[in-house]
Amino acid sequence: MRILIIGGVAGGATTAARLRRINEDAEIVIFERGRHISYANCGLPYYIGGVIEERDRLFVQTPENFLANYRLVVRLRHEVTAIDPDRKEITVRDLDADTETTESYDKLVLSPGAEPFKPPIPGINSDGIFTLRSVPETDAIKEFVDTRKPKRAVIVGAGFIGLEMAENLHDRGVFVTIVEMAQQVMNVVDFEMAAMVHQHLKTKHVEFYLRDGVSSFEKRDNEILITLKSGREIVADMVILSIGVRPESGLAKQAGLEVGITGGIAVNEHLQTTNPDIYACGDAIEFPNPITGQPTITYLAGPANKQGRIVANNIVFGNTSTYGGSIQTAVAKVFDITVATTGASEKSLEKAGIPYKTIITHSSSHAGYYPGAMPMSIKTIFGPENGRLLGAQIVGYEGVDKRIDLMATAIRHNGTVYDLTEIEHAYAPPYSSAKDPVNIAGFVAENVLRGRSRHIHWHQVMGCDLNEMMLVDVRTPDEHAIGSIEGAVNIPLYEIRDRLDEIPRDKTIVVFCGVGLRAYHAERVLIQNGYADVFNLSGGYKTFESATEKQSNEDIYAHDIIGKDDHIYQAEIDGVTRSADGHPVPSPAVGIEVEPIAVDARGLQCPGPILRLKKEIDALEPGARVLEAATDPGFARDVASWCTMTGNTLVRLDESDGTITALVEKGWPRSVTTASTTTGATTGTTMVVFSDDLDRALASLVIANGAASAGKEVTLFFTFWGLSILKRDRKPRVPKDMMGRMFGWMLPGGPRDLALSKMNMAGIGSAMMRNRMSSKNVDSLDTMLHQAIESGVRLVACQMSMDVMGVSREELIDGVEIAGVASYIEATEHSNLNLFV
Ligand code: FAD
Repeated sequence: MRILIIGGVAGGATTAARLRRINEDAEIVIFERGRHISYANCGLPYYIGGVIEERDRLFVQTPENFLANYRLVVRLRHEVTAIDPDRKEITVRDLDADTETTESYDKLVLSPGAEPFKPPIPGINSDGIFTLRSVPETDAIKEFVDTRKPKRAVIVGAGFIGLEMAENLHDRGVFVTIVEMAQQVMNVVDFEMAAMVHQHLKTKHVEFYLRDGVSSFEKRDNEILITLKSGREIVADMVILSIGVRPESGLAKQAGLEVGITGGIAVNEHLQTTNPDIYACGDAIEFPNPITGQPTITYLAGPANKQGRIVANNIVFGNTSTYGGSIQTAVAKVFDITVATTGASEKSLEKAGIPYKTIITHSSSHAGYYPGAMPMSIKTIFGPENGRLLGAQIVGYEGVDKRIDLMATAIRHNGTVYDLTEIEHAYAPPYSSAKDPVNIAGFVAENVLRGRSRHIHWHQVMGCDLNEMMLVDVRTPDEHAIGSIEGAVNIPLYEIRDRLDEIPRDKTIVVFCGVGLRAYHAERVLIQNGYADVFNLSGGYKTFESATEKQSNEDIYAHDIIGKDDHIYQAEIDGVTRSADGHPVPSPAVGIEVEPIAVDARGLQCPGPILRLKKEIDALEPGARVLEAATDPGFARDVASWCTMTGNTLVRLDESDGTITALVEKGWPRSVTTASTTTGATTGTTMVVFSDDLDRALASLVIANGAASAGKEVTLFFTFWGLSILKRDRKPRVPKDMMGRMFGWMLPGGPRDLALSKMNMAGIGSAMMRNRMSSKNVDSLDTMLHQAIESGVRLVACQMSMDVMGVSREELIDGVEIAGVASYIEATEHSNLNLFV
């Protein structure tokens, strides 16, 4: 039997080796267009990054080894250009000799893989723009990085490979900017899981633009000008295109083989094409997804290798082996975190019209009391009636891979969430907890299915009507003060039974805590006290916060960095890191004069690290220091706010490999220094500016400027309609979603468009008011705003309102701080006058 194989890497090489192991007599020839066979595509980004140091380690097999050990003939640089299924022949071009021959076969195997997608963008073929698929492309990128020492790279497309390249180039000292057309990176996971990746990328000083694409590339000397669809321009030394791939199915199509709607080669369960003598495997085939039933192409090495084995079995033994399809199990390292997925996502189920339920749970990688436990967030997706496990996504630091594999095994065997409750795992404190994160996901899903708990999701709560829904934050007052959902009422779990009279029975009640556990207790208390309409916020405030925060970080300009507290700092102009308004802020450069007390809060979930810090600090004298290590990602932000609120000093904040280390100095009374502000006793004035009425805006600025001139520290917190007061006259073009555009049309364009709250008379009233002010020498609103900034009034735009209303930073006047409610609450701590306008 003569078996010819097209493509000599994952699927092709595996098929060939298996064929030889089960058939010693067959003549087997591999035709490979490139110069290498059986190499590790998956290792290519890490070779560029220098993690894999020796190039030879990428080559799993060589033609010489294949010939010596397997008697397999490999023809490198031989491209198959045509297939004649009737004559059972292929046409082969020797690319080096530039000659063409025909070869006959008894059985033919297609494993030609996929090719990178290059859209017709002007300038896309310029020098310095790369794709990454093969060894020569890898060599070209590596050589460019080694010899040209680029300072700045743009990665177009934020899939797994794009993000792996971002990390590897960043590790080589290149400033990386990612441009992604979708609203999130890693489209295979759902938005709230990608949101955690966004927040992680921010801490790594990787710039990324979401919902934006490239409209042109232009080569200028040694640089490339990348113009985005939003009009923004980026200059970079190199570009990696990681937009996607498409199956190499052209050859099959030409030969009259059926190609499916996805563009992949159609095969049956024996991986046979529409011609019985031709089999196909790998990235080039289309196969029904076992969960959605939709035709799908799987661009993964594992399935390609396993398919190769099935193809070999079927060729030698007849069609005895069947392929069940891929559930798309994938994992990727993104800097310090691991992102993994298996089964169907919420998005894909939605598209396929398949009903589902989801829950989000947060657990630790191993027992919290054993050092080094790291947080892990799991999204579990399951059938609403039978609990069949449909998909899972995990983001975390350690042990993500083994949990996703457990989930994948359960899905593969048609398991349910009830099966997850029973999974028996190996447990000792360094490896897991007595109840593994996968068991916990099962328990929570079981509670939902059996009606013991009802989950509501972050997007259903965001911007909800508070007349209809009451949000009850059952965390402690300290946690609530650091940050909560706007409009939420704080009733700690330990007080809830005594404060039921504050919770109405005629509204929908949503209880939430940090991750969902305390809220579940609260939910049970309410239900057993006769409340009919109670929900638990799935994933708690942790999920809500990361999903509703600003996602991209396009505010990083040449000398700016986004701090871990989400403030923008200007980096190292004179060796000193400064806040956006120019104040020096504590930086790693600050020396440690006092031996700190080391506290290990790794493994504790929010609010554990803060409570631990409070306990230690309470026991110290002013000036003493605590060096606390924590793994809860929210700690980075919380510790900054907590220090500001409590009058302690955050001397240093570092993050490495998922461990956040904060050096905190106990404050002296009346002496508090923080990254963004210096405040003393309670002499400040704070105001929430909610309205966009001209008269109310004027009143708030008159009071603010008056208070500032009396030496008070003044903070104005602009939320919702109040944001219009801060808008620039001439705004740059910024990308907006539909709702953002609608708000843009409906709302005033800036201070000059504001209307009076009374007697506006289609704008006549406000024009009269402006004239009257001018004739009486009263400053205009614009002037008052600038006076306020000059006299040190803090104008704070509410981040959450900006996100909800689609207002971006570029639309606001200079000098405005963007922050969350914690920042405002922190200011009220030092205020003896607090107004709501
Ligand atoms: P390939 O392995 O791509 O082999 C196809 C071969 O066919 C190519 O060498 C091509 O030159 C040759 N060929 C095509 N047409 C012809 C022709 N007409 N004549 C002769 N030869 C031809 N997957 C994972 O699961 N995990 C990962 O971490 C991961 N990382 C990746 C990182 C990178 C940078 C890349 C590029 C891919 C990664 N993948 C990963 C995907 C994985 O490598 C592929 O899914 C897998 O290699 C597909 O196997 P295949 O045999 O279908 O195609």
